[in-house]
Amino acid sequence: MADFGGGDLETFRAETRAWLKANYPPSLNAPMSEDDAPWGGRRFEWKNPDAKLWLDRMAERGWTAPMWPKAYGGGGLSKAENKVLEQELRRLKARPALMSFGVWMLGPVLLEYATEEQKQRFLPAIVRGETRWCQGYSEPGAGSDLASLQTKCEDKGDHWLINGQKVWTSYADQADWIFCLVRTDTTKKHEGISFVLFDMTSPGVEARPIKLISGSSPFCETFFDNVKVPKDQLVGKVNGGWDIAKRLLQYERQNISASGFGGGGGLDLVEAAKKEVGVDASGKLADGDLRARIAHHRMDAHAFTLTVRRAEAESKQGSGPSAAVSIIKYAAAKMNQERTELLVEALGLQGLGWEGEGFTPDELAAPRAMLRAKGNSIEGGTSEVNLNVVAKRVLGLLDHQ
Ligand SMILES: Cc1cc2nc3c(=O)[nH]c(=O)nc-3n(C[C@H](O)[C@H](O)[C@H](O)COP(=O)(O)OP(=O)(O)OC[C@H]3O[C@@H](n4cnc5c(N)ncnc54)[C@H](O)[C@@H]3O)c2cc1C
Repeated sequence: MADFGGGDLETFRAETRAWLKANYPPSLNAPMSEDDAPWGGRRFEWKNPDAKLWLDRMAERGWTAPMWPKAYGGGGLSKAENKVLEQELRRLKARPALMSFGVWMLGPVLLEYATEEQKQRFLPAIVRGETRWCQGYSEPGAGSDLASLQTKCEDKGDHWLINGQKVWTSYADQADWIFCLVRTDTTKKHEGISFVLFDMTSPGVEARPIKLISGSSPFCETFFDNVKVPKDQLVGKVNGGWDIAKRLLQYERQNISASGFGGGGGLDLVEAAKKEVGVDASGKLADGDLRARIAHHRMDAHAFTLTVRRAEAESKQGSGPSAAVSIIKYAAAKMNQERTELLVEALGLQGLGWEGEGFTPDELAAPRAMLRAKGNSIEGGTSEVNLNVVAKRVLGLLDHQ
């Protein structure tokens, strides 16, 4: 395998383009459905063998985590090289090789806070898509006020003992491992929290799926009943988990924002509206009000994309996201909710199908995506909470609390 570290960018681009052309399976050119999403992990069933082949090829180069160090299975790419890789993947309209909480959230904080042994143990398996992770943060009494969490973790000498409950744990029923916030000191709030990792098949772990308005069950209530966790699976310092938790949330918001949420089938808003509503004599969308709202949305969406690109370009190499990512997460949620609502409106009756004949798969995906998007302003921190972060930590408006 060629070593691209530090070489000439144009050579890197040419070699990357050639490699992708030779290795991206053409069968993946069809739009990716929710069923096709490449989550990986021990319990994951690959419906399309080419998707697994794509993962294995990308993982072998470390390109499922392109900027992680090679020592932990990553690609070792510089920021500039990573940008080229992203451009070339976009050019090919390539599907992601791996969708992974491990790559998006856990890995970056392990790189910052974990011991060498923990990095060696957990990071390469994330890169290869072998371990699927879930996020044990929220509890019935601790969502926005996350530091109120009560899940208890006691030091039993040779192990930790965990008791408590999490909620809204996305894919807990399909994950192999969990990164979990626990209370190791009940006398303090933020300074009594630790960050632990454990296997979801440990005795005493139970995940119960919750059904959503969109019809799917992407998340669970998760119960811990006397779960024993080896001592070396606590990351950072005992009672020092809050800093790691906050850092991970920044990575989560960054990734949510970069993906722009998306989803909702392959329909283009303008084309769908023209088809359903019709056009006037000059070829414009016949409904002037809808036309104005779609145009407004598209201008905002374009400005949003440019802002995300500028923020990426401005962020210093290797320093990761800052509190300013809350601005982008807030806007990304608003943008996706607007887009999915406009699409359902534009589709008229064709946008109201739930199942059965008379609707295309893309039409059926539209109302589900619109309902799913309601969660965008809640997940990864609510819009209100993100605005609080912007007020306090970006604009410095409130210095108390
Ligand atoms: C799709 C989805 C996936 C999720 N996945 C996960 C997951 O994998 N793991 C996990 O741990 N959690 C997950 N969550 C949970 C999510 O992080 C919480 O729902 C979120 O943090 C809000 O907490 P809450 O639901 O308890 O609402 P609350 O905190 O009770 O908030 C209720 C309302 O009060 C407002 N509010 C609260 N505090 C303030 C304040 N200080 N200022 C202004 N307004 C405020 C909120 O904005 C909200 O409108 C997921 C949620 C969704 C929707």
